[in-house]
Amino acid sequence: MKDLFELDKKHFIHPTSSIKQQQEQGAKSIMKEGDGIYLTDTEGKTYIDAMSSLWNVNIGHGRKELAEAAKQQMETLAFSSAFSTFSNEPAILLAEKIAELSPDGLNAVFFTSGGSESNDSAFKLIRHYWKIKGEPERNKIIALKKGYHGVATASTSATGIPQFWEMADLTVPGFVHAESPYERGTKPSIDSIREVIEREGREQIAAFIAEPIQGAGGVLVPPEDYFKEVRQLCDDYGILFVADEVITGFGRTGKMFGLEHSGVVPDMMTFAKGVTSGYIPLGGVVVSDAIHNVLKEKSSGTLFHGFTYSGHPTAAAVALKNIDIIEREGLVANSQAMGDELLKGFRQIKTELNIVGDVRMTGLLGAMELVEDPETNKRFSPELQVAPKVIEALHERGVVCRAVTYDSTDIICFAPPLIINKAQVHMIVAKLHDAVLSVQKQLGD
Ligand code: PLP
Repeated sequence: MKDLFELDKKHFIHPTSSIKQQQEQGAKSIMKEGDGIYLTDTEGKTYIDAMSSLWNVNIGHGRKELAEAAKQQMETLAFSSAFSTFSNEPAILLAEKIAELSPDGLNAVFFTSGGSESNDSAFKLIRHYWKIKGEPERNKIIALKKGYHGVATASTSATGIPQFWEMADLTVPGFVHAESPYERGTKPSIDSIREVIEREGREQIAAFIAEPIQGAGGVLVPPEDYFKEVRQLCDDYGILFVADEVITGFGRTGKMFGLEHSGVVPDMMTFAKGVTSGYIPLGGVVVSDAIHNVLKEKSSGTLFHGFTYSGHPTAAAVALKNIDIIEREGLVANSQAMGDELLKGFRQIKTELNIVGDVRMTGLLGAMELVEDPETNKRFSPELQVAPKVIEALHERGVVCRAVTYDSTDIICFAPPLIINKAQVHMIVAKLHDAVLSVQKQLGD
């Protein structure tokens, strides 16, 4: 029997990981099987996957129908390029389905293999759009601090968490950041976007990109009218508005897409993750009819942008089956109902323990903040490592979760599979209570 822990250390560079810690401590768990909301590791220990792995396994693990869809498509036509004038049935049907689900007026889809590629593609399509429209000077993109848009070169540049670009000092020019809309006690930051537009030159701004809820930044929910004001601002200045729905898409927030909560329609939408529930890599960009019309009428020659796997038939077949399950099983409504139940549990914990600050939940995307003083929201000193300790305590109790500790925050994020039921929600709440209590005791109450 091979020693997987040793081989992992020797050969596997994990994404977004501490390589030093991996060498010293080895992998925490090597996951072997998934079933519903559960994961089981090679040691036989079972965990609740309270993060849907990386905010993506929306329909839960081990769904045989997806394996069957992949098998059938692979046996028929595993792959054929959609380059140039070729096409394939699953990609066409998936584009049609995504157009049907997208807000009115967004009807054409460019496919990728993930979120970073989707955002990089959006940025290139935007620059191309302005160029062929005769306004090539519109070449700057405004993004938000604490926003996360991926790790390809342009999407890293859009990301508003500096650690992601500082690791290689590699960004492309033309990306500027406005304040995150979520800063406790400060006024909503719509003014900050306006200031950036004026500072950079209004005629130079191509687009504004934001997540409906900032996920990797700590599940940060903007104030209620924020995106209405963003839409108005973008219209006033003639700027394109891109919604990054990579986390918030496909039912995660209790609506099919996160921006629906604001009643606002973007000009472009990027997606990935939940479109296949992570069973196979796939992402994409949906563009408005207005943009599509400009591309159709003014593009001359080849659109020199496309991935080998843009429109991958097997990935598309899996996505179609995944979306079918989301609709058939009413998972968007379940996300809303179970999210409300989980929030009730969080609020109960907050009344019982004295290190719990803000708790929030939109559908099944939420967070619990841990603070030294819930009255003033005073944060713990980062050396205390409060959130990582809670994550560790949850892991011991069989719950996989994720902490956000940038900017000295202690935020525990939650995004369980949308198939979760009430009894399972209560199980998470009980284990979370127990884990936070144990850390509170360690801290000396
Ligand atoms: N956009 C958002 C909002 C994300 O959360 C992520 C990944 O977590 C990405 C983009 C990048 O997606 P990927 O990791 O599939 O490249």
